[in-house]
Amino acid sequence: MLDYIIVGSGLAGIAFSETALQHNKAIIVIDNESQNSSRIAGGLYNPVILKRFSEVWQAQEQMALLDQFYNDLEAKLRVQVDFKIPILRKFFSIEEQNNWFAASDNKNLAPFLSLDLLKTKYKGIHSPYDYGQVLHTGYVDTALLLDSYKKYLNVSNQFYEETFNYDLLEIKKDFVQYKHLQARHIVFAEGFGMHSNPYFNLLPLDGTKGELFIIKALNLYLDVIINTSVFIIPLGNHLYKVGATYNWKDKTDLPTDEGKEELLSKINEILDCDFEVVKHFAGVRPTVRDRKPLVGTHPNNERIHILNGLGTRGVMLGPSMAKALFESIEYQQPLSKEIDIKRFDKKR
Ligand SMILES: Cc1cc2nc3c(=O)[nH]c(=O)nc-3n(C[C@H](O)[C@H](O)[C@H](O)COP(=O)(O)OP(=O)(O)OC[C@H]3O[C@@H](n4cnc5c(N)ncnc54)[C@H](O)[C@@H]3O)c2cc1C
Repeated sequence: MLDYIIVGSGLAGIAFSETALQHNKAIIVIDNESQNSSRIAGGLYNPVILKRFSEVWQAQEQMALLDQFYNDLEAKLRVQVDFKIPILRKFFSIEEQNNWFAASDNKNLAPFLSLDLLKTKYKGIHSPYDYGQVLHTGYVDTALLLDSYKKYLNVSNQFYEETFNYDLLEIKKDFVQYKHLQARHIVFAEGFGMHSNPYFNLLPLDGTKGELFIIKALNLYLDVIINTSVFIIPLGNHLYKVGATYNWKDKTDLPTDEGKEELLSKINEILDCDFEVVKHFAGVRPTVRDRKPLVGTHPNNERIHILNGLGTRGVMLGPSMAKALFESIEYQQPLSKEIDIKRFDKKR
């Protein structure tokens, strides 16, 4: 008898799998690589919304868990996935500089906003109004994390590369049965793939498509992340990850000309050097109308659970949402109303 079957091995599935393993639970993870949001993500963690200079929801709580979580994973997988690099907000006017300093008076933002204007001149970027530096930031190499985690689970036969067939799930009194597997619980973490899940497909998971480039810029020298209308992450060898767009209509994961034009125009606002597009990706973020995660237990079955709706911030939200779900299942700790799927009960 397993403790958990986990469907999905993106940032949500990994966060839950790891939380369960840290508590010595027996798990099997099933994934079919049908969604690529986690794989192509920028992977940034940044406690500040740089458009408005406001705090990310529950940033302090999430940041408190994040370091330990990815450090432990790195030790276990023996690979570096967490790159702690400053994120700089390029200012476009004196007014923006003033807004930054006004925001740093906010006690929730103060730990994250440097009070020194950064005047460094990076080759390839014109920055007459300098930069503000966000503290405690970086990025997770999500593709490397996904591949390394799968490899790790494969060694102990805990990973099944297949499409989960919902018709074959049998709900017994004290456990669930899937093919030959029996488990105390099943956790669904399928990202936008949730729409095929008959247990949860009435939840309002809208999905927001995002497109992203890898560019090569021989005359750009950056060892920090620039984040303004798009982020620019240095990958080494003159390669940079640049993104992302937001499209609420198109729900496919195909790169588009429209996305390409938008990214090119935003890059040109920031860079004043030549670059070439090496790769172009697209994926659908699992976003929810109220911008809060979808966490909880099925209203009619206490063995079936969901961890989804991580939206635009899977890296930061994953560890804390997985912990909340795990504690609610194992120790009956109530979930906060903001994240509990019960908030949609009346509308379902
Ligand atoms: C362009 C872009 C840029 C982004 N940048 C950032 C960023 O900088 N920082 C950040 O924190 N977040 C970022 N995000 C958001 C982040 O990627 C998401 O929050 C995160 O990927 C959600 O993870 P998930 O595990 O819920 O979903 P997914 O990554 O979609 O994972 C779901 C998994 O379930 C599997 N699955 C689905 N259905 C089935 C089935 N029936 N059987 C078997 N397996 C199944 C899929 O194959 C997939 O592996 C970005 C997203 C995009 C698209």
